[in-house]
Amino acid sequence: MKMDRWRASARRILKLSSRPDRAPRSAPDRGNPARYGSLHCSGRSCRGTQFYFGHQQPLSVHLREREFASGASFIQSRWFGSMATKIQRNPKFATINSDDIRYFTDLLGDKNVIQDEDALLAANMDWMRKYKGSSKLLLLPRSTEEVSQILKYCNSRCLAVVPQGGNTGLVGGSVPVFDEVIVNLGSMNKVLSFDEVSGILVSEAGCILESLVNFLDSKGFIMPLDLGAKGSCQIGGNVSTNAGGLRLLRYGSLHANVLGLEAVLANGDVLDMLGTLRKDNTGYDLKHLFIGSEGSLGIVTKVSILTPPKLSSVNVAFLACTDYLSCQKLLLEARRKLGEVLSAFEFLDEQAMDLALNHLEGVRNPLPALHKFYVLIETTGSDERSDREKLEAFLVHSMEEGLISDGVVAQDIQQASSVWNIREGIPEALMKAGAVYKYDLSIPVEKIYDIVEEMRNKLGHSARVVGYGHLGDGNLHLNISCPQYDDAVLAQIEPFVYEWTSKHRGSISAEHGLGLMKADKIFYSKSPAAVQLMASVKNLLDPNHILNPYKQLQELIEHNLMVKSNAIVGKWSSSPCRYQSEHWLSSLGDVIQHLISAI
Ligand SMILES: Cc1cc2nc3c(=O)[nH]c(=O)nc-3n(C[C@H](O)[C@H](O)[C@H](O)COP(=O)(O)OP(=O)(O)OC[C@H]3O[C@@H](n4cnc5c(N)ncnc54)[C@H](O)[C@@H]3O)c2cc1C
Repeated sequence: MKMDRWRASARRILKLSSRPDRAPRSAPDRGNPARYGSLHCSGRSCRGTQFYFGHQQPLSVHLREREFASGASFIQSRWFGSMATKIQRNPKFATINSDDIRYFTDLLGDKNVIQDEDALLAANMDWMRKYKGSSKLLLLPRSTEEVSQILKYCNSRCLAVVPQGGNTGLVGGSVPVFDEVIVNLGSMNKVLSFDEVSGILVSEAGCILESLVNFLDSKGFIMPLDLGAKGSCQIGGNVSTNAGGLRLLRYGSLHANVLGLEAVLANGDVLDMLGTLRKDNTGYDLKHLFIGSEGSLGIVTKVSILTPPKLSSVNVAFLACTDYLSCQKLLLEARRKLGEVLSAFEFLDEQAMDLALNHLEGVRNPLPALHKFYVLIETTGSDERSDREKLEAFLVHSMEEGLISDGVVAQDIQQASSVWNIREGIPEALMKAGAVYKYDLSIPVEKIYDIVEEMRNKLGHSARVVGYGHLGDGNLHLNISCPQYDDAVLAQIEPFVYEWTSKHRGSISAEHGLGLMKADKIFYSKSPAAVQLMASVKNLLDPNHILNPYKQLQELIEHNLMVKSNAIVGKWSSSPCRYQSEHWLSSLGDVIQHLISAI
């Protein structure tokens, strides 16, 4: 019966003439700085932007007021990230004065120097509305030269700076913690060149990913990366976070596709590494330092990227599996049987599906019943007939082997789009469901779902544990959804989730970065020697530490903990737990406390 269904479906596979034009379930377009100058704001919500989802509660319900008066801040991570880490504003940083404003206005013009409190609201708060800074100044440079002048000045005045792109980051890296100056690249949004023979695109860093997608589409090319936030995120932000997304399986990470970039260092020096060569072995390849550096080493101003040609045949299948082992075996089978045409292999569990069905408008289950696991497979190739035959053979074989319990193949672009909407809409559905603790883990594929189940056992009925992600890349998005943030729930999640990941030789940040959320968690995934070297690089490129303070390694460096970290925080061991300590210290606050008491 089911086989018939499959064969019937397979016969009906449509040869899509282009990649499905997925209705973009993008992050709300509230990060487009071109709009900052013309926001119409009333009270705390801004008309003219899509900043709030209509259903969401007012800001004050989600965020506890911060203790600015005392100069200390209980970072929102008290509820969703690390254990209560109390961060003090670093007194070495200057505060903005009227001379500073005059300097920036002379440099950038009035409309690119934003001080209006309402207009600053969007730039001060992240997409998840968990992290909220109190910056009094948003700058919108239009050229590398302007970025250079801004940083040179800020460095000389010791003004802290947060580089910002589309503000869709999920770890609190893109917004200030205190009153840092926000430098948003959105006005630098020009395509500079495109070589139609090599497919090499050179653009300014503030180009929105989706506008690059549209530009390339007209030339018969695609971007090598694609993510649910494409309607708002910027290529400079993508590079600075080393964003992974939905095509990494096929085209590799940005370390593979970015051929060159231009970055402005903290002292204003412009580092021209904007090569367009595939091969260049003359010395260290410094651009890689900036890919994934989350705005801590410099501001990326231009990017040169290799783009693949758009292929004519795209097929999308949405499959149900009875257990996680079948998903794994299906992945192996897909790699073997679909090989060169496999372009995405995403998975979600029944809780993720349930959230999507209940919280996303217009989303419906393409299968007649609910299942434990779902896999979305996309193939992209150049030969429609052979691609279709390959997919059919794979589906029939997988069905016969019992790996798939049901499934559908999109028959037209709309169907493909609705299937993608389920997967891409999960972050939004989670936001709509209430409070969410988000973890982005790289774990060996065979172990990926163990952490979801262990977390479920641990939390019982107090929270809903949701697993989905880029299975083809070994990347799990583990989300714990509750009606509201609750310290008791958080205490059960952390440090357990980090210890578990470290024990299984995973990474506590597969693609989202460390940001503020995991600023002090790097040791779970990196050796002290590696972190020490990173700190040296930071000290070399940004000796005053003005770039994106309080995040990544910054606090460890500020407190001069790097050298001592191995002794204090724990002993690095190769097996079975990479990071072991008799006195497990789960947060930077603990490290500092420990240091102080040791002195
Ligand atoms: C719905 C949704 C889906 C998502 N899906 C994915 C996904 O599949 N894969 C994935 O990897 N991420 C995903 N993300 C996370 C996010 O979109 C990415 O991290 C993205 O690359 C951030 O780009 P941005 O322009 O919004 O950067 P921002 O959020 O503005 O900034 C992110 C970090 O980069 C720094 N930065 C930004 N621009 C620059 C610059 N020009 N120079 C130097 N530093 C800079 C900031 O300081 C910050 O530390 C998703 C987010 C959402 C909301």
